[in-house]
Amino acid sequence: MVADSKTSHFEKLRSANLGFPRMGRQRELKFALEGYWAGKRTEQELLDTASALRKEHWKLQQAAGIHFIPSNDFSLYDQVLDALVLVGATPERFGNGPVTLERYFAMARNCREQTAMEMTKWFDTNYHYLVPEWSAGISFQIDTTKLLGEVREAHSLGIETRPVLIGPLTLLLLGKGVDGFDPMMLLPKLTAAYKRILKALVAEGIKWIQIDEPMLVTDLEASARDAYRQVYAELKSVPLNLMLTTYFDSVGDNLQTAIELDTAGLHIDVVRAPEQLRVTLGALKPEQILSVGCVEGRNIWLTDFSSVTPLLDEAVSQLGPDRVLIAPSCSLLHAPHDLRSEVKLSPRIKGWLRFAEEKLAEIVALTSHDEAAYQANAAAVADRGVAETTSNPKVRTALAALQDQDFRRRSPYPQRALVQRKELGLPLLPTTTIGSFPQTAEVRKHRAAAKHGHETVETYEAFLKETIAQCIREQERIGLDVLVHGEFERNDMVEYFAEFLDGFAFTENGWVQSYGSRCVKPPVIYGDVSRPAPMTLKWTDYARSLTSRPLKGMLTGPITILQWSFVRNDIPRRQTAWQIALALRDEVEDLEAAGIRIIQVDEPALREGLPLRCADWPAYLEWAVKAFKLATSGVGDETQIHTHMCYCEFEDILPSIAALDADVISMESARSRMELLEAFRAHKYPNEIGPGVYDIHSPRVPSADEMRELLTLALDVLKPEQVWVNPDCGLKTRGWPETVSALENMCRAASELRVQISA
Ligand code: GLN
Ligand code: ZN
Repeated sequence: MVADSKTSHFEKLRSANLGFPRMGRQRELKFALEGYWAGKRTEQELLDTASALRKEHWKLQQAAGIHFIPSNDFSLYDQVLDALVLVGATPERFGNGPVTLERYFAMARNCREQTAMEMTKWFDTNYHYLVPEWSAGISFQIDTTKLLGEVREAHSLGIETRPVLIGPLTLLLLGKGVDGFDPMMLLPKLTAAYKRILKALVAEGIKWIQIDEPMLVTDLEASARDAYRQVYAELKSVPLNLMLTTYFDSVGDNLQTAIELDTAGLHIDVVRAPEQLRVTLGALKPEQILSVGCVEGRNIWLTDFSSVTPLLDEAVSQLGPDRVLIAPSCSLLHAPHDLRSEVKLSPRIKGWLRFAEEKLAEIVALTSHDEAAYQANAAAVADRGVAETTSNPKVRTALAALQDQDFRRRSPYPQRALVQRKELGLPLLPTTTIGSFPQTAEVRKHRAAAKHGHETVETYEAFLKETIAQCIREQERIGLDVLVHGEFERNDMVEYFAEFLDGFAFTENGWVQSYGSRCVKPPVIYGDVSRPAPMTLKWTDYARSLTSRPLKGMLTGPITILQWSFVRNDIPRRQTAWQIALALRDEVEDLEAAGIRIIQVDEPALREGLPLRCADWPAYLEWAVKAFKLATSGVGDETQIHTHMCYCEFEDILPSIAALDADVISMESARSRMELLEAFRAHKYPNEIGPGVYDIHSPRVPSADEMRELLTLALDVLKPEQVWVNPDCGLKTRGWPETVSALENMCRAASELRVQISA
């Protein structure tokens, strides 16, 4: 399979890992953290668990044969917070001096005395980091305890590591200036802090570090590029080899900048952006090493060795084997731990999957060009390919037959609005909720018991019926205009649907860290998606039968299902999204046929699917919007389509939100006091909108006056006929007493305003 001369080349190749999942095979870290927070474990017990996990993870990377093994990739909560502790840039409001474990967690988690730091998504992943808060008073007293502690800990096990640091510019640019402060003002001090840290590593005998600068794959302003050059010119004076590490996309127009930083090595992601290999090879300086990220770090599919080998051959033939490293595309933090414990998964599908441990084996096999592994890989890839050709022809035909009109409602909104107003007979400022009602301990207990077979289907369904009936009665008593069934049967807004759909598989242990101790277990989309039977019809129709008021059916949208699953990589994402959309379209039509006049299709994840580069936005938004429209356009004019999105910056995608052409959209806006509406003032949102009037993230019951005030702000920007009245988001995390009081106040606010408007 490979010529002898090549085999000898490959003998010199080396492998690297960029980071390993921290939670542990059985999520040991999660349970240790939660035990500690609950006061059931001591600090020492928590630290011991953490240390045991690091040890296990280093050992298994060593045993796998990884050459460059990372340290400081571990974290008790978040690597960005760790980086802030390291450089001495934790927010002053949490106090000064060395960061104790107590203070560390106070910054990360809300407690009575203090609101924690803000959290947001790490680039386009589902991992959340704590957002740095930059202000003039930051001390930059470096604290290398953790960084050097891990180096020494590994060293004592006989393992020399390549420590991981978040690069200074990525750290700075990911943060926010407090009260309008310009973070760039901190650049000299921050650079000096990094210099001290690098020197401490040199003193420790470290030769190489991995310095993560994923900001280099985003659109950078000239000033940011200058800052990069300035900082790295300074860092160059420290005799340490830096592996400048980029991932999640192409370095693209920042390549020249990246090369000019003159680091000892550059890591690029050739899974997301294979085309950048050639240009990078052409641009590298004579001594620079290239780390080729060719095993996907953030999905679960096996690597196709036959498509990676030509890339590696090209790199090796240009640079020679000494200057090439083989690595995952990004840290394996975003992959589950290992496949061994997956005993329920179909063996065939399992054969196509690789979790973190199995990815290490792939990296090593590619590095050593292991013949047996190559053959096994070819067989597994071929098997997956065969399954692909036996995909669902019905779905393929339906997709191929789509016409323009399948993506469009029958009439434009103004016409639909007239029909709907007549059909629904709703008052001005109609009141409703976002879908879920409190998921009490009792609800969760019954659902779990039914799932594990401890409760019969009959008992469980009787319980659900009673709970839905109570929920309907309660909504009628409160005086809501549009009711919902309450979503009590749903464990999760994606998994619930995935379980009904063909083309999805589920793992037992495929957990990925979302933030802190929180992990998610995304379903796996492995094949063509279709809907063999209705998914929500039964409970929605039951709820409808209990009331004479309009009942809103609740669905999760195609982009949200796509975003919160592990998506197949053998067909374009767009195609999978449209397959899901077609399945939802069937559901929408079934609900309509059953007499459900209002259907809400939630798309909270629409924005997080945005590519990292603005130039790629239009293409994504076009197919994402079309997916939503495909799901919702099969209905008649009289059926009202709602959508819901949680708060994030919508301003920049407002035209696309309008293009969804939902009759009604509800959005989170209470926390920002309707700031969102400013954007709508500028853009002139054409359809109806329910700007959330109270924050559901806290048990606080807002007064009717407060909500009326917010609605008045909304009415400054929107016509009364456009405005709906609803909370910010679903109520599943709330308790019943506060929910009832808040909704009563909300309905009172709406009716007072109605009187005011018609007076
Ligand atoms: N309908 C969902 C609920 O109410 C919406 C959840 C969400 O926006 N994330 O729970
Ligand atoms: Zn929401």
